[in-house]
Amino acid sequence: MKHIFLAGIICISVASCGGDSTTTETKSVADMNPQFDKYKEQFIENLWKIYPGWASSQGYHKYDSILTIPNDAQRTKELEFTKANLDSLKSFDINGLSDNNKTDYHMIDNQLKSLEWSIKEQKSYEWNPSEYNVSGSFAEILNGNYDSLDVRLRNFYLKMTYIPSYYEAAKKNIKNPTLEHTQLAIDQNLGGISVFEVDLHEALNKVHFSEQEKQSIEATAKQSVEVIKDFAKWLDNLKNKTPRSFRLGKELYAKKFEFDIQSGYTADEVYEKALARKKELHEKMFELADKLWEKYMSKVAKPADKLVLIKQVIDKISEKHVKPEEFQSAIEKQMPVLIDFIKQKDLIYIDPSKPLVVRREPDYMAGVAGASISAPGPYDKNGNTYYNVGSLAGWDKERAESYLREYNYYILQILNIHEAIPGHYTQLVYSNQSPSLIKSIFGNGAMVEGWAVYTERMMLESGYENSDEMWLMYYKWNLRTTCNTILDYSVHTKEMSKGDALNLLINEAFQQNAEAEGKWKRVSVTQVQLCSYFSGYSEIYDFRETLKKQEGDKFNLKIFHEKFLSYGSAPVKYIKELMLSEMTKSPK
Ligand code: ZN
Ligand code: ZN
Repeated sequence: MKHIFLAGIICISVASCGGDSTTTETKSVADMNPQFDKYKEQFIENLWKIYPGWASSQGYHKYDSILTIPNDAQRTKELEFTKANLDSLKSFDINGLSDNNKTDYHMIDNQLKSLEWSIKEQKSYEWNPSEYNVSGSFAEILNGNYDSLDVRLRNFYLKMTYIPSYYEAAKKNIKNPTLEHTQLAIDQNLGGISVFEVDLHEALNKVHFSEQEKQSIEATAKQSVEVIKDFAKWLDNLKNKTPRSFRLGKELYAKKFEFDIQSGYTADEVYEKALARKKELHEKMFELADKLWEKYMSKVAKPADKLVLIKQVIDKISEKHVKPEEFQSAIEKQMPVLIDFIKQKDLIYIDPSKPLVVRREPDYMAGVAGASISAPGPYDKNGNTYYNVGSLAGWDKERAESYLREYNYYILQILNIHEAIPGHYTQLVYSNQSPSLIKSIFGNGAMVEGWAVYTERMMLESGYENSDEMWLMYYKWNLRTTCNTILDYSVHTKEMSKGDALNLLINEAFQQNAEAEGKWKRVSVTQVQLCSYFSGYSEIYDFRETLKKQEGDKFNLKIFHEKFLSYGSAPVKYIKELMLSEMTKSPK
């Protein structure tokens, strides 16, 4: 999810809301919804003017031909925009808003403050050179099918004309960058050049432009490639004697956590929870692995080290997996099984009129992930939702075997729960029922990921594939999420070394070396995002347990799930607040 922002001065008429300040508590609150809906519309229009690149990525293509120059003038514009809108928000009495608008209000407010903070405090435009990379947005223009190729190519051409100024501004911004982000910027910028050298060329062969027009496009592309190469070279030669540490530090981390996760818990609290969860998982895993030892490893002497024992049993169980050529069909066959189980246990209503389409991962996504959900963007309401499954065709035997052991018989089912039913896909169907452009654009990642992670445990606790093997594998899977949080927090706020990080991932979370190395790379160029899964999950789970206790026999899991999802992709803390206030309004 991108956190870019826009500026622009907005003049919103909120005069009609000003007069109610004398309203006393006993009076009913004025209905603010019509004005607020109008405000939101205007807000988004203005947002896209200041963030044209963001607009394009969300499927709003009016500004496709513009590339924003990341200079001081732009940042000033952005700050004016945030200030004006934070002022506008103040004129609405939140009590006069519907639940949908209340959460939208909070999300706009958070986004504006986050933007302001990132410009004034975080200042990653100075130390993270990988923020400067244009190829992705150009590739999107070529890959999109929202308009004719002619139109898209002409926008591509106009947008290219900004590239020299764009990188000029980037060079001016960069000060003592981190070495990790500098290297990432070099790799990614050079890696993206093929969009201008290869992809564009192929697209030009498909249209009937005049020779002259084609030539000026090719010439501008050539110049763009030179500019990008020059930027990479400039970074490579940068005299950076006092590089900044890639570790964010405690103070910035706490703030970023607050803005990005929007949890009811602080970063410290989530970290403590993750530590406790890791301990709990290790205990449960040992119990199961010890029990399973006889069944699988009876001929081998039991190791004394508990973690080693767990790992050996996991390795053995992982041998149960599908054949490479059956990977996609196995996933397809799973969908009706999951739906039947959910119906039988009465866990949540699944709308049969919106079936999920399982498809082979399209080529342009290849290599990104084994399985993922593609949802239509906010401006593409009738688009299909796809479950993209990577193909193992052409993989050598060893690589396929290692992949299939990772996504073995057990884990593959948990993956399907997470990505599809009742995880991401189901959540998406529900959130589309209370449409909110704000939530589509600013959707809370911790809620979305947290829900998917929550459903894994919920399904197993409801008796899905109830076996010791399944639980052991689930714990391993959950341990990954848990350790991601411990890793992210420890690396960015506690100076955790690479050696300690790898030890955590390999020996305590049972990961392969390659996976652990990849995670180290990821944590050194991102912050907080790795926490979103565990944060959201633990907040949802805790909330459910609290309600269960409060409601006793009256608690109904199906009602809880449907109600919880009805608020859309809002932060869990607001959903919780609204659900609790509704309960006090209508006592059982
Ligand atoms: Zn095998
Ligand atoms: Zn997910």
